[in-house]
Amino acid sequence: MKTNNIYDYVERLNNLLRADSRQAIAAHGLQPVQLEVLHYLSTCNHYSDTPMAVTEYLGQTKGTVSQTIKVLEKKGLIRKYSDKNDKRIYHLKVSATGKNLLIKTIPTAMFANACEVLPDKKKLEILDSLKQLLTTVLQINNIKTFGVCHTCRYNGKTKDDGYFCNLVQQPLTVNDVDLICREHKNQVTPNSVTKNLMK
Ligand code: SF4
Repeated sequence: MKTNNIYDYVERLNNLLRADSRQAIAAHGLQPVQLEVLHYLSTCNHYSDTPMAVTEYLGQTKGTVSQTIKVLEKKGLIRKYSDKNDKRIYHLKVSATGKNLLIKTIPTAMFANACEVLPDKKKLEILDSLKQLLTTVLQINNIKTFGVCHTCRYNGKTKDDGYFCNLVQQPLTVNDVDLICREHKNQVTPNSVTKNLMK
């Protein structure tokens, strides 16, 4: 019974947010999925800004992602650049125009206004519950976490107090560690599914 109730609340919120988002971006000639891709690209690191990673994160088909990328590029919201080690791979970066659009549209006014009236303590409780729900869904279903870098088990420290990725053996900047990553691995044990994943 409780599972159905949780599902109903999440679904209703999802419907409201999608409808509001659709309205907010209509003037810019965008579809919700195109805004989702733009938003994802603004939060991910350079290991995760390829069309393949976008496909994995959003669970969309390659064809849909490819069309979406074309639209975003045509509108000047993203730009492509080749990987410096492998010219067959290209990365996608949000342009200044794209960043401005995101500032205006995410979160939508409807959602931001509602959150404003909630006390801070309640917002933290909601945040914690949503983190637990997301973590559990991802772990139980063996789905990639796409978590924030500083919460990853491969995130290490260098002697001079910098950051280092022990998976790809590359240094990380302060900015990198706040971004999400397709290679992220949770630090919790498989049985501790209720621990926090994303911060
Ligand atoms: S530490 Fe983890 S999240 Fe960060 S870049 Fe490396 S694999 Fe990705």
